[in-house]
Formats: sequence, structure tokens, C-alpha cells
Amino acid sequence: MKKRQRHTEKGSRRCVRRALVWVIALLLTALAVYLLLSQLPKDDIDVDALLKESSSIPIETEAPETETEHINPVPYPDIDEQLLTINDWSRPGTKTDAIEYVVVHYLGNPKTTAQQNHDYFESLKDLQDVSMSANFVVGLEGEIIECVPPGEIAYASNSMNHLSISIENCHLDDSGRFTEATYTSLVHLTAWLVCEYDLDREHIIRHYDVTGKECPLYYVEHEDKWEEFRDDVMNYIEECKEAKGK
Ligand SMILES: [Zn+2]
Repeated sequence: MKKRQRHTEKGSRRCVRRALVWVIALLLTALAVYLLLSQLPKDDIDVDALLKESSSIPIETEAPETETEHINPVPYPDIDEQLLTINDWSRPGTKTDAIEYVVVHYLGNPKTTAQQNHDYFESLKDLQDVSMSANFVVGLEGEIIECVPPGEIAYASNSMNHLSISIENCHLDDSGRFTEATYTSLVHLTAWLVCEYDLDREHIIRHYDVTGKECPLYYVEHEDKWEEFRDDVMNYIEECKEAKGK
């Protein structure tokens, strides 16, 4: 009997302890709920503020987009697009890594026309004896033929092919001097490219500056004429900006 009594006493003590634990747990829960509720008004404000912030995000991102919308001040040149067939010898169809330079060349083949040189580049896919091309060819009468689109590799400027746009220029004689019409179109095209790809004067270079090859001959032999050409490009850009009222 005594053992039984002890057992029931122990049992009731356990019950009391359990009840106490429950009461404490309930009190702690109530305290936690109270603390949480007391924070609510503050949280509401923060959420509102956050909502306002998030709703204004699209407006903030849209605004700079319109501000930085790229408008080329130089009018688009009259370009005759005659893209070469993609092939291993003149238009590999490979993207450039970037467009950091405009490289000026001369064809070294007096009196040939832009069309003839374009057609020669195209024929290389069948001849398969030499790799050669250019993004653009400027002709004796100032005509411009696009052979390889900018942003695609053309075979003209050796180690710079993957970072540049190349322009080949026709000429009349062994001096390699460009005709006035060729020169005018070259200035226009270069100016347009400089603005289009956000370049500057120092990024207009000659084939000579890449490999030391005497190309474009006249503008290697006459350093002053080369500098004059770069000035003419930059001045033309300024003229175009002024004409647009900037
Ligand atoms: Zn060259």
C-alpha cells in the first residue's frame, strides 16, 4: 500500500511539474506574441516604404535608358551592302572580341574599283589560295561597299582583326594617295564608325601602326597627311554635332 501511495504522490508531482512547464510555455508564447504585435505598426511603415521604393525602381531604370539612348550625330553614309558569302578565306563569320579600332588601308592595286576588289574577296572562297578581305572598301568615286559587317572578323589587319573594323581604299597610282572622292567618303565613314562604336581619335589607326607594313602607303610616307586625316574626321564629327544643335 505504502509503495502504491508513494507512486501516486510521485505521479501527481510529475503532473504539477508538467502543468507548470505548460504555463511557462504559454506565458512565453503570449509574451512573444505581444512583442511581435507591438512591432507591427513600425513594420507596416517599412513595408510601405519598401513598396514605394520597389514601385519606383522601373521608373529609375527607364529614365537613364532614354537619357543614354545612342544617337549618332553623323548621318549614315551611303553604304552599298554586298556581304560576302561566309567562307574560311574571306568571311569566317566569327564575331570580333570588341570594336576598339578603325584600321585604314590602301589596296596597293592602282586603278582597281571597289566592286572589283569586293568580287576578288568573294572569289577567294573558290580560289582558296590566300585569306584576305575588309569590312568596307571605298572606291575611286567615293562609293562604299560593305563586305563584312562590323563586329565580324575580316582578314585585313593581322593581330587587330579581332578588335577592329577595317577599311580598304582604292587609289589611282603608285603614290597611294586617295582621290578627293575616296578621301571624303573615308572621312564620313570613319566619323560614323567612331561615333557608332564610341571611339576617339587615337583609335583611328593605320595598318602600319599594327604591323609596320607600308599601308596605306601615302599616309605612312606623309605622317602630316595622316594626322590631318584624323583631324578631318574629328572636325567632321564636331560639325555634325553642331548641325544637330548639340
Ligand atoms: Zn593594309
